[in-house]
Amino acid sequence: MAKELSRLARNGELSYQIKNIAQANNIHIITLDGAINTVDSNSNMFGIYAWLYETESQNTSRRIKSAIKIKSSKGYFTSSIPPYGYYLEKGKLYKRNDNTPEIVQRIFKEYLSGKGFDAIAKKLYEEGIPTPSQIAGKANASDKWHGSTVRAILENPHYVGDLVQGRSETVSVTSKKRKYKSENEFIILKNTHEPIISREEFLAVQQLIKSRRRIRPQQQTHLFTNILFCADCGHGMHYKKNRKGYICGSYNKHGSKACNEHLIKEDELKTIILNDIKNLISKLDNEKFIKTIEAKVKTNIDKLEKQIKNYKKEIENLKAQKRKALNKFINEEINKEDYDMFISETNKKINNLTTVLEKNQTIINDISKNFSLKDLDNLKNMIINIKELTPDILNRFIERIEIKADGTPKIFYRFSGASVYFSALSINTQHST
Ligand SMILES: [Zn+2]
Repeated sequence: MAKELSRLARNGELSYQIKNIAQANNIHIITLDGAINTVDSNSNMFGIYAWLYETESQNTSRRIKSAIKIKSSKGYFTSSIPPYGYYLEKGKLYKRNDNTPEIVQRIFKEYLSGKGFDAIAKKLYEEGIPTPSQIAGKANASDKWHGSTVRAILENPHYVGDLVQGRSETVSVTSKKRKYKSENEFIILKNTHEPIISREEFLAVQQLIKSRRRIRPQQQTHLFTNILFCADCGHGMHYKKNRKGYICGSYNKHGSKACNEHLIKEDELKTIILNDIKNLISKLDNEKFIKTIEAKVKTNIDKLEKQIKNYKKEIENLKAQKRKALNKFINEEINKEDYDMFISETNKKINNLTTVLEKNQTIINDISKNFSLKDLDNLKNMIINIKELTPDILNRFIERIEIKADGTPKIFYRFSGASVYFSALSINTQHST
C-alpha cells in the first residue's frame, strides 16, 4: 500500500519491475489516491500512471531548479558545500574565523610567484594544512592536497565576493549525471559577500593559468616504467630526468611526509638487473638446463605433430568425399554443375589444410635444428654475454622490481626457471609457449 505510485517508483521502468515482482508473488498494490488497486484488477493502468508520475517528477525537478535560480538571484548560495575559506549561514557566505581565508590568499600569492599547482599542494600537505574535504567534514576525507584541488580554488570566482551559480545542473530526474553550462548561462551577482581575493589578483591568476596551460610533452616511457615499485608504500616509481633515475611516486607527489625518496639511478639498476639475470643463468647446472629445455621442446613438437596427424586425417576424409561424389556423378545421381562446384570447394579445403600442415612441419624442423644440444650451450653463452638490458629481455624475465628505502632492488622473476629460458630461446622461432 502506498500513498501514490510516485512513492513506489520514480520512473516507468522501475514501476514495471515492481509490478512484475508483485504479480509473480501474488502481492497486491493499492495506492491511496485510488489510481492503482490490483485487488480490483486495474493494473492495466499501471503503465500510464507510471509515465504520468515520471513526467510529474520531471516537472517538480524543473520547479526546484527554477526555485534555485530565484534563490541565487537573491544572493543565496545554493550549493551545500561553501568554498574553502567560507562558511554558509542561511544561504549566505561568510569568511571563516580560522586561517583558511589566509590559506586561500597564500595559494593565490604562491601561484602568482611562479609556483605550480602540484608544488603548492605538496607544501600544504607537508605543513598539515587541513584540506577542503576535511573542512567540509566529508567522510574519509583525505589529508592530501592535490594539484587539482589547488587549481579548483584558484579558479573559483566566489573569492572576489561575487555569487556565481548555475555552473552545472542535473540532466534529468532519473540520472545523476551533471551537465556543465557555458559561461554566459551563469548567474552572476556582484558583491554578495566579503571577498578573500581582490578582483585584480583573481584576474591575473586566471590569465596566468591560461598562459601556463601548455601541451604536456608526451610522457616518455622509461625502461622500468610499470615494473618498478616502492617497497614501502607500493606506489609505482616515477622517472625523474634531473635525477637520472626513479623515485617513489607518492614521495614525488606528496613529499617526505608521505614516503621516502627511494632513489635508484637508471644506469645502476640496469647493471644490477642484467647481472642478476646472467648470474641466475650461469648458476644453472648445464645438464639440468638442457634437460628442462629438451622436455619443453619435446612437448611442443608432440603438440605440433598431433595437429599434423589431424590435418592429414581430414585431408583423407575430403579425398574420400571426392571419390564418392565422382561415383554419384557417374551414376547420374548429381549433375555436372553440382559435381564441379563440390570438387572445387573440396579442393580449396584440401589446399588450405596442406598449407597449415606444411607450416607446422617447418616449425618442427626449425625447433629441432635450433635446439640441438650444442646450440643450447651457445644460447646460454649468448645470454651471459648480453651487454645491454633491452625492454624485451627485461619483460621476458622480470615481473616486478621493488626498491627498498636504501635503494636496493628486490627482483621478482616472471616465470619459474624453465619457462623463462624456454621463452628466451623461442625468440628465434617466434613460437613461444
Ligand atoms: Zn613509497
